[in-house]
Amino acid sequence: MPSPSAIAVSLAVLCVAQFHLAEMISIRKVAYNVTAKHLDTKVSGNTLNDDQFSVSTLIEKANTNLGQEYDRTVIEFGDIAVPGGLQNADPCTARGCKWPKTKGNVYVPYLISRQYSARERQIIEQGLRSFSTSTCVRFKPRGTEQDYIKIESLNGCFSFVGRRGGAQTVSLSRNGCVYFQVVQHELLHALGFNHEQTRSDRDQHVRIVYENIMRTQEHNFRRINTNNLLTPYDYNSVMHYGRFAFSRNGQATIVPIPNPNVAIGRAMEMSRNDILRINRLYNCSQT
Ligand SMILES: [Zn+2]
Repeated sequence: MPSPSAIAVSLAVLCVAQFHLAEMISIRKVAYNVTAKHLDTKVSGNTLNDDQFSVSTLIEKANTNLGQEYDRTVIEFGDIAVPGGLQNADPCTARGCKWPKTKGNVYVPYLISRQYSARERQIIEQGLRSFSTSTCVRFKPRGTEQDYIKIESLNGCFSFVGRRGGAQTVSLSRNGCVYFQVVQHELLHALGFNHEQTRSDRDQHVRIVYENIMRTQEHNFRRINTNNLLTPYDYNSVMHYGRFAFSRNGQATIVPIPNPNVAIGRAMEMSRNDILRINRLYNCSQT
């Protein structure tokens, strides 16, 4: 069983960088209030101010103190737990990390820790249930199943990508992760999906601005050989990080191309493409 004590405290350097970012955000907020609103919307599709409830802002904030190691597992790409080194749909989905299907439905057993309040539990359950209205995925309380997800409040928000076998943690910290969009985001990782901006074809749709990324966080922007399931690149995916993700200076780290002003990473719920991908990866009959 993973123990919270196995989580290393983050590097002092990272903390300094984060404080710096927080400072930049508050400075920008003041500027935002003073300048005409249309100026900001003209400059870009996102501002630091209106990105504050975007999935990546919430996750980045909640994971500020998350170390790189969790139970001998590396946390990469902001919130993905990678078992023992490197291992849209991750390439592992072709090798058996999908959840099994029974009579047309994909049942994913879950346990929710008793750490949560009734209200928090309700938000988590809403997230779990939301998959059943538009896909063939059915999260169901665990009985005696061997493979299941264990939703608990560890340090930060993170998940493994795909089914690992046995109990696998989906961490939704009570301190900043219990939001509907974050619940959906982490569950999509557990179903086998990566971040949109790490997609194999991302360089045709976004420019990664490395000079603005915190030095210790560049690994979050590595490209992955994903299976995109013939779905278009989607700025509105709940798996897309925001314009300022892991910024070291308050400047954009992800800029859409060709139009740099399009808003990105602002989804408050799964997009139509997120849903389409689940249905394609798991061959749900809706597609
Ligand atoms: Zn993520």
